[in-house]
Amino acid sequence: MIEQKTNMLVGKKALIMGVANDKSIAWGIARELKAHGAELAFTYLGDPILKRLKPLAEQVGSNILIDCDVSSEDSLDKAFTELKTHWGEFDMLVHAIAYSDKEELKGAYVDTTLDNFLNSMHISCYSFTSVMRRAKDMMPQGGSAITLSYYGAQKVMPFYNVMGVAKAALEASVRYLANDLGPTHGIRVNSISAGPMRTLAGAVIGGARDTYKHNVETAPLRRPVTLEELGGTAVYLLSDMAGAVTGENHFVDSGFNVVGMKKVES
Ligand code: NAD
Repeated sequence: MIEQKTNMLVGKKALIMGVANDKSIAWGIARELKAHGAELAFTYLGDPILKRLKPLAEQVGSNILIDCDVSSEDSLDKAFTELKTHWGEFDMLVHAIAYSDKEELKGAYVDTTLDNFLNSMHISCYSFTSVMRRAKDMMPQGGSAITLSYYGAQKVMPFYNVMGVAKAALEASVRYLANDLGPTHGIRVNSISAGPMRTLAGAVIGGARDTYKHNVETAPLRRPVTLEELGGTAVYLLSDMAGAVTGENHFVDSGFNVVGMKKVES
């Protein structure tokens, strides 16, 4: 069971999209939202993931588990129709979903195929827009949504390739969604740019170990980011504590992004 930290989110409902296992960033966020009192529902991609998600969802007292492949508009429609049978409305949404062919996260960006470019953009970027188009009508009291980005959106990182391009588009989408949904629905939209994490998605990027090590050695805090810290930032962005924050990309990376060059030790 999750230790209750505050009652700040009691009465608030959060839809979590993207838990694959207990290392997933979405799981770190789900745990913290629960620790502050939120009620949770999850979407998952297919039965193998459902098997791993079920016991985790039990830990946070949720039995709303909805199959959803974000690359299919039909699947998204069905998922939101099913969500409506449980909740008429909800308050917070977490989109922690990305995909690219791992063979294209090894070589050079210039070799990206059209198929994988479109698929990576579809799942890793467009899906957030598609989700928010459906979610906005279930947030009549206003709401808050976050997605997950990475520094490779802004600077070239080894082997991040087409995912960097997709994350750049995702960060731009955050600004456009914030501007669309603020005036009409009172919905805030932000992204968290996480430092490298040892997750399924993180592991498929070429040289992941070197990237992880370089981040720890270079970041001002000289340590990796924890799931709990990503969760804490999500609680802040999703709650009224961040009531006037929207369209932002918030780094949670032990400060790595502020360093131009690490001092050479002699
Ligand atoms: P993860 O593998 O635990 O999560 C990725 C999720 O995407 C999985 O649950 C997977 O099922 C889901 N997914 C993929 N294709 C899907 C589809 N078509 N429909 C529905 N779901 C689909 O890895 P993670 O690292 O927790 O990734 C979560 C987010 O965080 C991603 O957007 C990722 O790019 C981002 N991120 C990760 C890191 C890192 O180092 N791991 C750093 C910064 C940002």
